[in-house]
Amino acid sequence: MWGKRQTKRRALRGMLGFMLLATVVFAAFGAWEWKHGGWISTSYADPETPAATSGAAVPEGSGTITVPGSVTGAEPAPDEFETPPESPDPGGQQPSNPQPPQPPLTPPPEKNERPVSPGKDQYPNRKLVALTFDDGPDGKYTEEILGILKEKGVKATFFLVGTQVAKYPEVAKRIAEEGHDVGNHSWSHADLTKLSAQAMRDQLTKTQDAIFKATGVTSDLMRTPYGAYDDGVLKEIHDQDMTHVFWTVDTRDWAGTSVADMRKNMLSHTHKGGIILMHSFGGRKHAIDHTVALLPTIIEELQDKGYEFVTVNELIASGQAHASTVK
Ligand SMILES: [Zn+2]
Repeated sequence: MWGKRQTKRRALRGMLGFMLLATVVFAAFGAWEWKHGGWISTSYADPETPAATSGAAVPEGSGTITVPGSVTGAEPAPDEFETPPESPDPGGQQPSNPQPPQPPLTPPPEKNERPVSPGKDQYPNRKLVALTFDDGPDGKYTEEILGILKEKGVKATFFLVGTQVAKYPEVAKRIAEEGHDVGNHSWSHADLTKLSAQAMRDQLTKTQDAIFKATGVTSDLMRTPYGAYDDGVLKEIHDQDMTHVFWTVDTRDWAGTSVADMRKNMLSHTHKGGIILMHSFGGRKHAIDHTVALLPTIIEELQDKGYEFVTVNELIASGQAHASTVK
């Protein structure tokens, strides 16, 4: 009886000791992670790695390209279904303390010239990232996303397809009115590298016109469908006073990737200066339901990790955008 009790007591003491040790290790680890941010993503291809060639390579047939800084490949055709990529498990993330309020960013300069990057990091102690939503506007998801962003007080960037702007000008207008950046994503979601020079130019100008008509804004940002561009396309984009915007994190939401897989991918691949690719329309049936379901929580989780959401123009002006993503 007595022996048993002592054994029990010893076991209890051992357990308490272990718990104390675990708490100390846990606290130290959390503090280190907090300080260093982004420690988890050892497998991430650094977007600062310069591109091998000027312009991006466009492989035959697929309509997709791979650019350094792209984590999981290029933007898909809406009717392409692929298995979501495996993303490394970030491990147990500990909830951290709430963020102290940050002073507002200096607004980007007036748009007389196309935004260029990189610049000097204006906010070395802050971790800015940009959420981007392609292929809208539409009559459902775009407004749901706008509602979430409004509730969270987060600004994002929408790359709009011209035909959709013509269909839903009110939604395009709402995007601009609520302070988000509006970008050009071609007239009909065409692979611009496969068009004649004139047809390619028209894809850009018609969309610029539609965006201006709907929103009163002249877009200075362009994202090519599938991220597919070559030197000719890039030159035309620059001639029309726009900057091409790639991404560092591809959520593959269009493919119906599960909320859990997208969350893991975003938590492990988001870094300071990152640009996250999502969609507000298109893709596989009901795919964007996952985007809408994930958005409120992933915003909070990334904010808990110290990230601040800004528009692409703000990211460029901050000097934190990576040279490989903004051309
Ligand atoms: Zn697209």
